[in-house]
Amino acid sequence: MKRIQEGIYQIVSPFPEYERKEAYRLRDDMEEHPRVTKGLPYIMPYAITSRGETLLVDCGWATDDSYDALSEQLNEIGIGIDDITKLVLTHAHPDHCGLAGRLHDEAKCKVYMHEIEIDFLRSRYTEPEEILEKMNVWLKEHGVQEDDVEDLERGSMPVRFFVATVKPDNPVKGGETIDVGDFTFEVIWTPGHSPGHICLYEPNHRLMISGDHILPMISPNVSLHPQQRENPLQDYIDSLEKIADMKVDRVLPAHEWDIDWFKKRVTELLTHHESRLDEMVAAVGVEGEATAADVARRIRWNTGSFDSFAAWMKRAAIGETLAHLRFLVGNDRLRRYQRDGVTYFANS
Ligand SMILES: [Zn+2]
Ligand SMILES: [Zn+2]
Repeated sequence: MKRIQEGIYQIVSPFPEYERKEAYRLRDDMEEHPRVTKGLPYIMPYAITSRGETLLVDCGWATDDSYDALSEQLNEIGIGIDDITKLVLTHAHPDHCGLAGRLHDEAKCKVYMHEIEIDFLRSRYTEPEEILEKMNVWLKEHGVQEDDVEDLERGSMPVRFFVATVKPDNPVKGGETIDVGDFTFEVIWTPGHSPGHICLYEPNHRLMISGDHILPMISPNVSLHPQQRENPLQDYIDSLEKIADMKVDRVLPAHEWDIDWFKKRVTELLTHHESRLDEMVAAVGVEGEATAADVARRIRWNTGSFDSFAAWMKRAAIGETLAHLRFLVGNDRLRRYQRDGVTYFANS
């Protein structure tokens, strides 16, 4: 646990592959020696406590170790799980919302989430049949070979067992405020990484709880997949521009570590996508055509080669490639067409 300022605390919650003590150690070590790891070791929920109220932003995976980590660190600040009055989920990824059901049952807290994300809790975790079917069609459409389709399609199914779903009782759209004692957070809708991703902004204390929208070192995954909006990279860039001029002294992200160079990071992320877009255009080639799977295999990934990725990472890489290709179509730098049920991209 790290005290950000009076009343605001950063919690470290382990991913299922890591013991919590190891996650605590890695949290400190990674800030000291910044690096990109192949999988994430931890997520950082934030506890905001003021005048008898406690807001928790994101909550970690639904494992006992993650629950114990949360409980142990809340105890260090003099409160317990029971004291949580409000829970905000920045988006529906399992590391952010996994424990929500259990916390809701035990603390009887109000749960806030963007209205778009709420249905993902059902369609991804409790009734995934329909999404699996759509994923199958989608993978084939984007050039994944028949032999690999099943692996990639089911790539993220194991995570289902690490989510105790909840039905958020306070859907938000962005623009609302959430009070916690002396703090007032503005809900900002920042689609891109996920369609209903939200950040929380505290203008008086100049804090931005950024979820997975802004991370200090990793460029957040922005993927086009069957549950995304039409052009997620355009959404993501618009969402960065939407917050770029806000007065922020400290960014509190959900992974890696907190930073005090908000503006510079926003600019870096925008620049990163510009160069990534150029790289994708080059990978499609001046002549010829390519599927999203072809391009994903040709471009460089800073976590290793595409072929060394686990199934869920391959799928994320294809989705990320596709988000860029779709953006380029929107900007008339590429054209897109279908042949025999497969989508191809070519330079225009
Ligand atoms: Zn996420
Ligand atoms: Zn995350």
